[in-house]
Amino acid sequence: MTGKATELIDHGYRAPEGFESPAVPVHKASTVFFRDVAHLRSQRWVDKSGYTYGLHGTPTSFMLEQRLATLEGARHVLLAPSGLSAITLVDQALLAPGDEMLLPDNVYAPSLNFARHELARWGITTRLYDPLDVASLRAAINPATRLLWLEAPGSVTLEFPDLRALVRTAREAGRPDLVLALDNTWGAGVAFNAFELGEGLAVDLTVHALTKYPSGGGDLLMGSVATRNDALHETLAWTHSRLGLGVGANDVEAVLRSLPSMPLRYAAQDAAARRIAQWCTQRSEIERVLHPALPGAPGHEHWAALCSAAAGLLTLEFKVAHTPQQVDAFVDALRRFRIGWSWGGPISLAVPYDAASMRSLGTPYLGRLVRLCIGLEDVDDLIEDLGQALGVLAGDAR
Ligand SMILES: *Cc1c(COP(=O)(O)O)cnc(C)c1O
Repeated sequence: MTGKATELIDHGYRAPEGFESPAVPVHKASTVFFRDVAHLRSQRWVDKSGYTYGLHGTPTSFMLEQRLATLEGARHVLLAPSGLSAITLVDQALLAPGDEMLLPDNVYAPSLNFARHELARWGITTRLYDPLDVASLRAAINPATRLLWLEAPGSVTLEFPDLRALVRTAREAGRPDLVLALDNTWGAGVAFNAFELGEGLAVDLTVHALTKYPSGGGDLLMGSVATRNDALHETLAWTHSRLGLGVGANDVEAVLRSLPSMPLRYAAQDAAARRIAQWCTQRSEIERVLHPALPGAPGHEHWAALCSAAAGLLTLEFKVAHTPQQVDAFVDALRRFRIGWSWGGPISLAVPYDAASMRSLGTPYLGRLVRLCIGLEDVDDLIEDLGQALGVLAGDAR
């Protein structure tokens, strides 16, 4: 007689025949069973022709990878536990001692921290270039440069670079071993196609913090690396497996569930952010509104030449007359906007920044910065909230 414990484990469950639903089943696994030893030896996860171990993918994670490839116009996608880990995966897969990496001066700051504190220990040099000055990129490329990071627009200050000119300049260096990587979190595969920038130009890979728009909930962390290049994908995939980067099936399912509404959310948050940006330009407390779709904002013409949409982010530069304490008091006075990192979720967020501490090549921003990420609330309520909090600021200034 079979024991109870064995019966509970070796039961006869199979997915019901003829059952179809919109949801992708949540396949969870560490162990994956093989029919026999020959089957075990024949399975290859790296080209997704089979399953080997939960860490290397399940039908659920393979499905998300395929849908993200469709979103970004790529052929291959790898999932990582966070947007940051997707960035550091690329760095670790492509760089060796003696190599150099180039980052824009307005790069997502944790990417620079990884370079300064980890890559530096491994003998990898990081140089910064001014993303709004193509000549500064040209001057930074040298025979040791192996990886160029691009970001459009830059983090927090949202300057939109001339992406085509930067890509063309890097290609003109005539270095087939120089990989062009774009942090595409802001564009999200919606605002522009990084693999078809026009004029025959493309980046080699994109990284996307799925934590932001694809999740849309402010409740999970995930990242992806996408490419059209088979050999590059294989290099990334082997490092990915050696680093042991895995994602949880429930989180993958949550992203799969949110993905169909992403273009609609992106459009709604775009429209709301533009209205709020416009409203902010009328306020006397504010020196400048940084939002690439706003005429006059840094790189606006480059945004207009490339993009059909913008993410729901804007940054306010306050007049220098307003002290950091007053600007903090403005942020503290907000009621609907919550104070917190990240973006892309339903709740609007605000974070104050000190521009001077964020740049190595100098900053044109003299006033205190506050980055706003616009959620899905009614825009009038958000504007009312900004108005009352600016009233607190003005009161303090008197
Ligand atoms: C948020 C973000 C990341 C990192 O994503 P996490 O999932 O929070 O690690 C990377 N790049 C950009 C531009 C981001 O905004």
